[in-house]
Amino acid sequence: MSTYSIVWFRNDLRVHDHKPLTRAVTAGHPVIALYIFDPYDYSDLSYGFIKTGPHRAQFIQESLEDLRRNLAELGVPLLIRYKDPKNAFLEMSCDFTIDGVYLHEEIASEEHQTEGRVRKALPGVPFYVDHGHNLFPPEDLPFSTWDVPDTFSQFRKRIEKNGGAPPKAIAPPQAAVKAELPNKIEEGKIPDAAALGMEIERNKPRYHGGSTAAKQRLRDYIFTKDRLRVYKETRNGMLLEDDSSKFSPYLANGNLSPRVVYEQIQHYEKNYTKNKSTYMLYFELLWRDYFHLVHRKYGDRLFYRTGLNGLEIPWKTNEEHLQAWMDGRTGYPLVDAAMRELKQTGFMSNRARQNVASFFTKNLGLDWRIGAAWFESQLVDYDVSSNYGNWLYIAGVGNDAVSFRAFNVEKQAQDYDPDGDYLRYWLPELRELPVPWIFKPGEMGMIEQEQYGVQLGEDYPFPIVDLYESMREMKKAFEEASK
Ligand SMILES: Cc1cc2nc3c(=O)[nH]c(=O)nc-3n(C[C@H](O)[C@H](O)[C@H](O)COP(=O)(O)OP(=O)(O)OC[C@H]3O[C@@H](n4cnc5c(N)ncnc54)[C@H](O)[C@@H]3O)c2cc1C
Repeated sequence: MSTYSIVWFRNDLRVHDHKPLTRAVTAGHPVIALYIFDPYDYSDLSYGFIKTGPHRAQFIQESLEDLRRNLAELGVPLLIRYKDPKNAFLEMSCDFTIDGVYLHEEIASEEHQTEGRVRKALPGVPFYVDHGHNLFPPEDLPFSTWDVPDTFSQFRKRIEKNGGAPPKAIAPPQAAVKAELPNKIEEGKIPDAAALGMEIERNKPRYHGGSTAAKQRLRDYIFTKDRLRVYKETRNGMLLEDDSSKFSPYLANGNLSPRVVYEQIQHYEKNYTKNKSTYMLYFELLWRDYFHLVHRKYGDRLFYRTGLNGLEIPWKTNEEHLQAWMDGRTGYPLVDAAMRELKQTGFMSNRARQNVASFFTKNLGLDWRIGAAWFESQLVDYDVSSNYGNWLYIAGVGNDAVSFRAFNVEKQAQDYDPDGDYLRYWLPELRELPVPWIFKPGEMGMIEQEQYGVQLGEDYPFPIVDLYESMREMKKAFEEASK
């Protein structure tokens, strides 16, 4: 039987800055790349919705098409399998000898368990694991995983005191001798969202997966459109593509290495300008690293109802409220616009995410884990550590001991969308409403409803909870739980 090295791709769909690929190519044996669609990732969660929704499924499909092209140039075929990973590996081990499996480390326990089952099925086969999702590998940090500071600000200061520069990104490997597949082995078709049993709406702009698209976006945002220069001033915008970098789908799926983003920030600073905006983008990449480290430190506590601080909040169950939130029909325009954007595109700005998560936990008082799971299902940039980490903090069950904090979603809309453009874009039924009614349609009387052609309860819902009353109730619940 012929012998091959396998590079197991998961959330690292690129050929640049990919140590496992480079190591496998230089190890000497022909290299086969492998990506497995695990049916578990496309199953229904206990909350009644699918774990990976159509937008991310489509993004992954596009990323894999791009990866297959890029790997082919290196002489590496990409096999696609849609089955339990353990069985996929077992089948291959019957067809050829596996000399070693090369892969990037993942943090979450689900991936660890899957990997553990695969390792058990391949006794004697070495696994070569590298770090590759962050700016800083754990061994370069000035503290151990267990001592990761409990506030971001402490973390950032320690990193910056330590020099603040990550290792250099590595280039794609040189082309290897083309690996011919054993006779009966097929490469396998990449399933799209439809093949995975999902429908996808195509009427709104959305993000396209793949390293090629990622590098194009990187160049466009920083250099061609020159938007890094003003990132600090625009990043809270919710409507426009260039309000923020939109690197997250590429970073989350590994189409882009964060170290390549860092390098481009450096080039921009050297050749154009260095200002608060250029620093701020680096600062945000540090937030990403921080949430990954919090996940490493606390493990599965990231998914506990009581979070990292053990607060016993009496989270409510209310199917109607949950459905209204997911569908964008709460009667609060900022929440509704953002939730409809998420459903239609798989994306939502950071400002909007903070607001809808705060509304979910501090106004509706629903179990934060369900909100986080809906994001997991819908987001094209879903990243387990960033998603659950951010949700924990907004829900008030993170590891930072701060008093009760909640976003006033009406005021936030006025502050960050002063003309109501974002709201009108996503809520066509409110398109005729001027300021100030666009921010609080629920307060319109009969006269305004007639004047603007919006009948409350028919065209647009009445608010499903009282904004201030619901917030007071949750504040009390937090105070009780903290006693
Ligand atoms: C409730 C909630 C859930 C979130 N879930 C995710 C998620 O699943 N995946 C994800 O990548 N981000 C998540 N974020 C963080 C943030 O909202 C997105 O990274 C950001 O909106 C992506 O847009 P951008 O690339 O234009 O960001 P930019 O503002 O341009 O930031 C640049 C990059 O920095 C990183 N970043 C920025 N802010 C954060 C942050 N708060 N936490 C972690 N990384 C950050 C991202 O990788 C981002 O691409 C979440 C935030 C909240 C409040």
